[in-house]
Amino acid sequence: MELDTDIRETARGFHCNLCNVNMPNKPSMDDHVKGRKHQKLSTVRATRKAQEEHSVFVSGFKQSTSQADLADYFQKFGPVSEVIMDKDKGVYAIVEFNEKDSLQTVMSQIEHRMNGLKLRVKPREKKEFKLIPKKKKDYKNMQEISERLSSELCQTASVNEQMKKLVERLQLRDNEKKARALLLQLLQEVFKEFFPDSQIHLFGSSVNTFDIHSCDLDLFLDLENTKIFQARARSSTEQVGEGTSDDARSEDSILSDIDLTTATPAEVLDLVAVILRKCVPGVHKVQVVGSARLPVVKFVHRELNLQGDITINNRLAVRNTRYLQLCSQMEARLRPLVYTIRFWARQKQLAGNPSGAGSLLNNYALTLLVIYFLQNCDPPVLPTVDQLKDMACEEEECVIEGWNCTFPSQAIAVPPSSNTQDTYTLLAAFFSFYANFDFASSVISLRQGCPLPITAFLSRSGTPSPVPMEGTKPSQERPLPHSHGPKLGPLNLPDPFELSHNVAGNVTERVQRSFQKECQEAEKYCRSLQYQRKSTKGKVWGVLRLLTPPGDGPRKTPAADKKELVIGIPFKAAPLPEAVRCQLHSAGDGFRLLWFQSVCSAVEEVFRNILKCSPPGSATESPVKADRGAKSETAMDTADAVFKTPTKSAVEAGFDRASSSSETSPRVPAAVGGKRALCSESSDASMSPQEKRQRLDSSPRFSSQSWTWVQRHKVWAGRRKVRRELLKGVVDVGPEGSSAQLETQVTEHIVKTEPEEKEPLEFRVQAQVLGGTESTKTVVKFRTTNDRAGLFQDFFHFLEVFLPKMADTLLERPVS
Ligand code: ATP
Ligand code: MG
Repeated sequence: MELDTDIRETARGFHCNLCNVNMPNKPSMDDHVKGRKHQKLSTVRATRKAQEEHSVFVSGFKQSTSQADLADYFQKFGPVSEVIMDKDKGVYAIVEFNEKDSLQTVMSQIEHRMNGLKLRVKPREKKEFKLIPKKKKDYKNMQEISERLSSELCQTASVNEQMKKLVERLQLRDNEKKARALLLQLLQEVFKEFFPDSQIHLFGSSVNTFDIHSCDLDLFLDLENTKIFQARARSSTEQVGEGTSDDARSEDSILSDIDLTTATPAEVLDLVAVILRKCVPGVHKVQVVGSARLPVVKFVHRELNLQGDITINNRLAVRNTRYLQLCSQMEARLRPLVYTIRFWARQKQLAGNPSGAGSLLNNYALTLLVIYFLQNCDPPVLPTVDQLKDMACEEEECVIEGWNCTFPSQAIAVPPSSNTQDTYTLLAAFFSFYANFDFASSVISLRQGCPLPITAFLSRSGTPSPVPMEGTKPSQERPLPHSHGPKLGPLNLPDPFELSHNVAGNVTERVQRSFQKECQEAEKYCRSLQYQRKSTKGKVWGVLRLLTPPGDGPRKTPAADKKELVIGIPFKAAPLPEAVRCQLHSAGDGFRLLWFQSVCSAVEEVFRNILKCSPPGSATESPVKADRGAKSETAMDTADAVFKTPTKSAVEAGFDRASSSSETSPRVPAAVGGKRALCSESSDASMSPQEKRQRLDSSPRFSSQSWTWVQRHKVWAGRRKVRRELLKGVVDVGPEGSSAQLETQVTEHIVKTEPEEKEPLEFRVQAQVLGGTESTKTVVKFRTTNDRAGLFQDFFHFLEVFLPKMADTLLERPVS
């Protein structure tokens, strides 16, 4: 099949690189290619390409030079059709000729001079044409900033300087800060009128030292004193009689409408919204978002073009903002690192959710990831939050909503780090750190500065046990102020203060995977000379290459694109049934093997029972040719059989047996021996975060498991139609792969109604568990041993979606 060059095949159909859309099948792809959008973009691209081929890039002229002056000068090489100057005027221009040949004439002249200055004239860079989605205005702004920054950063002498310059260019200018301060003052005055004694506090990026031009204004309206005022006013009204005191008169205005001690946050915010709409000049687009974790009123200030958020009950955010400020004061390298990483993550579409909601990392979470990395450097660049707590004096003690938020108020109280690495080395190390990080099985603790094993969070209560918090010894363990642990997901990053809140709880598996993939790409790039040395040929170098949006980088070679027949099944703790979570919890460090065994059972069940594959030769012969010897059970039919290895000793025995059985098996960083928590303070207090990490990574090997299967029917073809027929009249049906029973029936129907293949497909499946130096997952590799009819590509295509989904369904079903 000859595909349009913009179209590529994906696991789920087709993708158009030009229009950035997915199509599920060939007919819709054909329609798309003939459609208006694709045609129009193809034409625009062709026009741009022609313009590029007809024009030169000129710089080095005097700032007073006009478009007409340039046109005059270049006319002598051929008719000029257009001269386009940059927005800031006078830095560069594009000169476009009617004829392509004129370009050669221009370039053949060794030197160009205008008004006594030597001009730099070069052919235009061939940029890949990219569609910038209309709605992502913010993203477009960043693109523009990056384009403008690009030439400036290219000129700097070192990567460190590039990062410094990035901060200078992105941070709020003094006049912007002043404008924000004035708005804050105005809001404060207005709110004081309606909510006597109230106070407005700024938090978030306007004040956390990571501000950028477009950042929003995060405000906390503190009504604690207003509540006291209201209570006083009410009691005095009751005592003296209505309308006689000043306080009572004020209360008549607006406070009489609401009782602040009993009103819900949404009710209070409705009132705040009314005040904003009616009484604050320049404010519009006021909107209450009552359903957010923390209800918020959003607004826009027209003249300042500023988006603002007002929350109440948000003392923790003010405190964590103070923590970020302290980190910046302690460590000068933090700001350039955070600015660069925030910009990188934004360009790669990993962070910066539009309107605050979405599945990407938010900037706060990303900043915590940078700080956590710095806690893990050798020697550490930043202390852990628990260490900071110990450095604080008594007056600095701070507890908010039961959470210990104590840290020194001044950076001077913290001994400086002995780490002297350059900022650019730390940037490369950041990428390397997360490129090799086991997100699936770790909980990132800034308090302790080390990864906590996820198994510690899998017990019934979900509280990490026996991991002691806040520097207490296990024996004197203090109960957590809140009894539930953070919501587990693909990225587990508890807030350093509100420990039950996973600040990356919104991040999806896809985003977590792209984050790690982009870190791996960046890690590779940072090892190249292009990162470390300034280009003498004016090419993009240093951090600049990291700041290009996805797809703008160098194209992969065909060899790199060659597809491996591998399917990943990531470890997901959260959806597992409670009983299984408890088993994994008790297995401690051996949880990977236990989980892997259950995945193998599920994989086997998918092939044997659901997709009706059979072993080669006899239909009764076990298909398992396990590297670890004969398997005692055939594919499990009952859910509790999936998790049959109940004790920790059995898990350890499995490790021992397995570790000697296979040379080729992957490293499985898991076992550290003993049931003790990885980061228990009592035994680990003297260990650095690196030592703790290394210990987490030291592990034995254990074998993979493999099967050979035969498939005699095209069980992958036409499944959707069969499902529809089987489910006629049934409402409330889950998506494909959500019911083992239904999928089995679908296969049975196909096997019964469709003819058997003359040349059955025979293939080998090998499962391995990975983790520790990457996210814990089972990788399932495929190899055909007999595919004369050429069936496997289609089958594999189907399995890419079906197998992980089905395995999850089997792993997640309740244990009977
Ligand atoms: P920017 O506005 O540039 O995206 P920011 O740091 O202000 O960056 P916001 O999403 O506006 O990020 O959040 C403002 C503040 O709210 C953060 O600095 C932090 O104090 C708090 N915050 C944001 N998200 C969370 C979260 N998931 N958990 C806890 N606190 C958060
Ligand atoms: Mg903000």
